Amino acid sequence: MNLDPDPAGRPIVVVGAGVAAHGAVLGLRQAGFAGQVVVLGREPHPPYERPHLSKGYLLGAVARDQLFLPRLEADLRLGVEVVEIEPGAHVARLAGGDRVPYWRLVLATGARPRQLAGHEAALYLRELEQADRLRGLLGAGRPIEIVGAGFIGCEVAAAARRRGLPVTVHEALDAPLLRVLGPELGAWLAEVHRGHGVDLRTGVRSLPDLGPEAVVGVGTRPNDELAARAGIPCDGGVIVDALGRTAAPDVFAAGDCARFWSPLFESVVRVEHYQTAHRHGTAVGRAVAGDEQPFAEAPWFWSDQYDLNLQYVGAGLPWDEIVVRGRLGTPPFTAFFLRDRVLVAALGAGDGRTVSQARRLLESRAAVTPDQLADPATDLRRLARSSARP
Ligand code: FAD
Repeated sequence: MNLDPDPAGRPIVVVGAGVAAHGAVLGLRQAGFAGQVVVLGREPHPPYERPHLSKGYLLGAVARDQLFLPRLEADLRLGVEVVEIEPGAHVARLAGGDRVPYWRLVLATGARPRQLAGHEAALYLRELEQADRLRGLLGAGRPIEIVGAGFIGCEVAAAARRRGLPVTVHEALDAPLLRVLGPELGAWLAEVHRGHGVDLRTGVRSLPDLGPEAVVGVGTRPNDELAARAGIPCDGGVIVDALGRTAAPDVFAAGDCARFWSPLFESVVRVEHYQTAHRHGTAVGRAVAGDEQPFAEAPWFWSDQYDLNLQYVGAGLPWDEIVVRGRLGTPPFTAFFLRDRVLVAALGAGDGRTVSQARRLLESRAAVTPDQLADPATDLRRLARSSARP
């Protein structure tokens, strides 16, 4: 594959300079595109690994210069915000009025924290500067108030407890990560946090006065406004097909901002996982350059809380049965989420090896029995190979 550059001399433009943008440039180059690629990013930093912001970077175990991804062969323009795209004219307009003509455009604008009404001044964790502020807060030694027991709230709670600080977490649902994990696993995770001294309050209907230094992690919203304003269909994310194509010619989207058709799950999904954003970006970059391979990977996510490593494969889709290998609550164990006897997700606690095998099984879409999954002697990869559906 070797896409000739635009005869009119316009570059391929990537909007956003996060990990999906990094993947997109990589994909373009892997597919043999040798023309100009311009990356326009609002933050002043080159692409960096956000997952560290709620883990090692907060604790000082990961240094600032370890956050950044390898340099890419692209014209990286930072501190630059795109305020409008005009798909008809093939132009991106910047704050300040400059116009950047493009040949093909990839939206990799990511997501932003959902704001909690009345708590707009609280600390929301998405960008490096916010992590620096949070580090300062943890260093000040005062009690920490956290709203939301999702992945970010749980990780910040764990980091604050590691620092020996009193921590209170306010969660509206009856358990942490209830929607992803279900009640039993959620109750177990609640016990993990309480066992480490967190004052975890669940089922919270109204919040007390928390002051400006509370940390809020109550989900995200996709940055899909550029597409929506350009008339491109969005529905909780920019709608794209399995190649990352939007409804507008020459406009693609990748990563957290995109809601893509997954041939694996046979549904549209929006995923907010680091590795998926990178790999989705790469697949979309390749497709932009004409190497059109539908993105059909199972999303994979990890989280570190205390000395517990959680790994999750799946897209948070509905399940009708959970099967546990090992003993729920005593790591290592893995919970398998099934729908009509087909694996749709798995969560491993201290059991990354099983999760990586489960990923192959999930991608094979093989029908399985609960006994096969529960039995530690069953090799899930072999099961995937022997009974894969087309
Ligand atoms: P982003 O990383 O959000 O990057 C998008 C970039 O585009 C941003 O820099 C933004 O400023 C820029 N941008 C937006 N609009 C414009 C515009 N109009 N003009 C120019 N630039 C623009 N995932 C995991 O799998 N495991 C984890 O443990 C994990 N931990 C996390 C911890 C934290 C604290 C956070 C915040 C996220 C975590 N994630 C984790 C999620 C993961 O980081 C994201 O899925 C990933 O960063 C998404 O990449 P992206 O490039 O799509 O979007």
